[in-house]
Amino acid sequence: MLDNVRIVLVNTSDCRNMGSAARAMKTMGLKNLVLVDPKEMPNGQAQALAAGATDVLANAKVVSTLEEAISDCGLVVGTSARSRTLPWPMLDPRECGAQMVKEGVEYPVALVFGRESSGLTNDELQLCHYHVAIPANPEYSSLNLAMAVQTLSYEVRMNFLSHQEAQYAEQAASKEAEPEGQEAVEGEEKYPLVEETERFYQHFEQSMSKTGFIQPKHPGQIMTKVRRLINRARPDGKELKMLRGILASIDKSVTK
Ligand code: SAH
Repeated sequence: MLDNVRIVLVNTSDCRNMGSAARAMKTMGLKNLVLVDPKEMPNGQAQALAAGATDVLANAKVVSTLEEAISDCGLVVGTSARSRTLPWPMLDPRECGAQMVKEGVEYPVALVFGRESSGLTNDELQLCHYHVAIPANPEYSSLNLAMAVQTLSYEVRMNFLSHQEAQYAEQAASKEAEPEGQEAVEGEEKYPLVEETERFYQHFEQSMSKTGFIQPKHPGQIMTKVRRLINRARPDGKELKMLRGILASIDKSVTK
């Protein structure tokens, strides 16, 4: 399950933070590091700070956009030290750990970290299902990037450990317990991956441009609000398909 947890660092400017983040991850059992458009590539300084976790650093995937880093994920949580003008579904670090572990059994899940100077942009934050803020000192709430990685990775690990304990207890109680990884409830519909939800947003925008609900020259905040609404509702795969079907029927009647 921990192999499904991805740590994404966006546009990091100091590669020493990448090294420290790699170390933070490995101590918590995480190994999937993705660097989105890093300002500098990991060098000797990064390796020195990674210490025993140079493998995590060496295996880091480098991509140019956040979309690329998360398109195959089913859950994306963005980190932010301050609350933004547009409220978004929030998790505290403990809830974040629980959500990552719960969904990480099913598909890749990502924790996204921002720039040292300015954090994540609003557009980047809107690609996330949830936001998590470490409830730090309100007068000085901005942690060092790698320390934020450490804190949130620790919460993932703590939840993972208690989950594992509960599983052992269950297995001990019932000899017929299903093997690990097969505990998904039958018939329960899964959440769609980011790429599927992104296709829905594209379709929605196209259809609503055709009906005139969205005016391409003055789109306003509609797509942001739709993203927020869909994130809050978190439709499952079938529900998302139904929404696509509704859009398709609108497309049909508009082109008649
Ligand atoms: N000056 C930036 C903060 C950058 S700190 C700002 O005001 O947004 C670099 C990164 O560390 C952040 O983008 C976030 O990913 C993480 N981080 C720092 N403090 C955090 C906190 N209190 N809660 C969650 N993430 C935090």
